[in-house]
Amino acid sequence: MPALFADLALVNGKVRTMNPAQPTAEAIAVGKDRILKVGTNDEVNPWIGENTKVIDLKGKTVVPGFIDTHIHVADFGRSLMWLDLKHVKSIKELQSSLKERVQKTSSGKWIIGRGWSQDRFEEKRLPTLSDLDSVSPDNPVILYHESAMMCIVNSKALELAHITRLSPNSMDGAIDRDPKTGALTGIFRDSATDLLWKMVPEPSENELLDAIVLACKKIAAAGVTSVHWMVLSPVEIPIVEKLHAQRKLSIRVYLIIPANLLDSMLNFRSTYNLALRIGGAVINADGYLAAKSAALFQPYKGEIETSGTLLCTQEEMYSATSKILKAGLQPVIHAMGDRAVDAVLTTIERLTSETSSKGISFRIEQAALLDKMLIERMKKLKVIVSVQPCVAESEFSVWSALENLGPFRARWLYPLKTLFEEGVRVIGGSDCPMEPLSPLLGIQAAVTREFFPEERISVDQALRIYTIDAAYSSGEENMKGSFEEGKLADIVVLSRDPLTVAPNKICDIQVEMTFIGGRIVFKR
Ligand SMILES: [Zn+2]
Repeated sequence: MPALFADLALVNGKVRTMNPAQPTAEAIAVGKDRILKVGTNDEVNPWIGENTKVIDLKGKTVVPGFIDTHIHVADFGRSLMWLDLKHVKSIKELQSSLKERVQKTSSGKWIIGRGWSQDRFEEKRLPTLSDLDSVSPDNPVILYHESAMMCIVNSKALELAHITRLSPNSMDGAIDRDPKTGALTGIFRDSATDLLWKMVPEPSENELLDAIVLACKKIAAAGVTSVHWMVLSPVEIPIVEKLHAQRKLSIRVYLIIPANLLDSMLNFRSTYNLALRIGGAVINADGYLAAKSAALFQPYKGEIETSGTLLCTQEEMYSATSKILKAGLQPVIHAMGDRAVDAVLTTIERLTSETSSKGISFRIEQAALLDKMLIERMKKLKVIVSVQPCVAESEFSVWSALENLGPFRARWLYPLKTLFEEGVRVIGGSDCPMEPLSPLLGIQAAVTREFFPEERISVDQALRIYTIDAAYSSGEENMKGSFEEGKLADIVVLSRDPLTVAPNKICDIQVEMTFIGGRIVFKR
């Protein structure tokens, strides 16, 4: 008989433990923030006392809380404050959404929206300046197209940006004009969209605080209990600390900061704990495949010389990575092209031959384009590969890969199955808000990929990249990522079992409940 009773017991469930020694169970007992017992209903029963809250799962599936290893939480929060125009089916409907927002916004304040597409509009035309002016005469407005490469603005926004019909069109074709009159239509394209965006004031600290609290709620509702928060701006860090101090940070946070912020972060690290810590620092070795700035061994298809560039020399990469190690943080190196991955591995080979890097795992962000030799070296160095399955699978990245690499090299783009077979640890993230937040969607993307299906992974492997392997990547595999006695009670209840539904239906599974440290943070 146990000496104490559980605070919480989940019974009659289908528990996927992610612990190979005991893959399935029926029930979990939780005491304070930890797991006391995982087993059959009968085994958990003795832990249930008078004051234990018992939840009958009625056969629902339980998995360890998901860990999103690449998410921009502050930007996600900001984007949640924007007007969502994804489902708008006409310009009329767009106007009424905007009108509603204007009524709730103080006069003169900017209104930002995103997600519209003229292809979905009944009118089958682009919206115009006057469509927006008629509902928002006093608030400046920018509404981004779903591609984010185009926006429509109103006259108030033009006025604040000092753009008139007499403004020179230095960027060819990027500012639309009426062909007859030369008047501005309100449509801006590509880099011309920056002329407007730079006028939008930075959010105040309170606005950002509210945005982040809202983002954390959405994250927990997606079944995510821990995030690797990719910091983009130094203002995010004091806000996270403040939220943590005020106990408003509902999820566990592992901050990954840009390496150039290392020096200013030395005070922060004293607050190390289970809910918040600075874990890693990022260096960029190259750019992106779609922009042809990822560094390749061979030129891009159809090019003679363009093969991308390394953003630092071998020596610079070595000293930047050493500095991260000296600060006690995990080096996280963005490398997309094969030549960039090669340069990163050369740096790691040099560092691991020295003593300073013992016990720290190196992590490559993306590692998109590989070959067998690179994978062999990664395996030897125990390098962790961080992928975002939705990015890997998105039509755009596949399209650009085939277009820019040719089918032979594109075959080695995100070779997840080969990485698993070779024993290279893979971890999964969303890259939200650029891509959708849902880990279930990421799992589905990884198991159903249509291009080069030979690199599909199994549902169990896909679950690993969001749970136990993600926990390993931050050195927390003894605390989370699977259900084992003594680990943190970070638990997600799902409507159905990802291992038994049709692979293309995984994203339809609902998150029913999310617990962090035994406390319920979301209930559907
Ligand atoms: Zn990102």
